[in-house]
Amino acid sequence: MASDRLNVEETVELFRFVSKFMIDQKDILTKADQKIGDGDHGIGIARGFEAIIDLLEATPFDELGALLKKIGFGLMNSMGGASGAIFGTFFLGAAKAISQQDYLDSENLGLMLKGGLDAVKNRGKANPGDKTMVDALEPAALAADSQISLVDNLAAVTEASRLGMEKTKEMVANFGRAKSLGEKAIGHADPGSISMHLLLKSMTEYVQKK
Ligand code: ADP
Ligand code: MG
Repeated sequence: MASDRLNVEETVELFRFVSKFMIDQKDILTKADQKIGDGDHGIGIARGFEAIIDLLEATPFDELGALLKKIGFGLMNSMGGASGAIFGTFFLGAAKAISQQDYLDSENLGLMLKGGLDAVKNRGKANPGDKTMVDALEPAALAADSQISLVDNLAAVTEASRLGMEKTKEMVANFGRAKSLGEKAIGHADPGSISMHLLLKSMTEYVQKK
């Protein structure tokens, strides 16, 4: 049976699973970034989450805010590129939103996503429609519903992120290297939006299996 909330130890285990899953997406993300960017997104994500596996091994955590903060700084320090700052900022914003919390439950999932979204938008200045990871993250944060179970909530936010990611195929980019491609970027999904979707998908898979 899927559990309805994760304690700190289980949330560490969740992010260990997420990290391995993201490392396995390296080739897909590389190919996506080769189409409209410089091809380094898969390498960045894999390097970032390899660093997270090491950090999770080395550090004990007594609450969720500290765990997410460690992940945020870990990604920022290891990934490089625009997405290192962006995905790092996402986790730092999420950390602030659930500081001192002992359980990842349905309510904290929504707080995390909204906190992460606000931080990313503040830092990167991208809005939905700009063909960035915000196009996957914002619909996910808006779809979060604290009234349903954690597993159902995760499934709903993941599906919202997938639809948002799919929509980036129709967009021209206003940020990053894809900007210079103009209309040529149409037909290709934004690599960061794929990563954001896959991150949520892997969280859902972990909780469904548990
Ligand atoms: P770089 O663009 O430096 O090569 P990556 O290829 O690793 O970095 O990551 C590119 C991804 O970063 C994009 O697909 C996009 O989703 C995300 N990104 C870039 N700039 C922003 C921004 N200002 N706000 C949100 N996301 C952004
Ligand atoms: Mg790139």
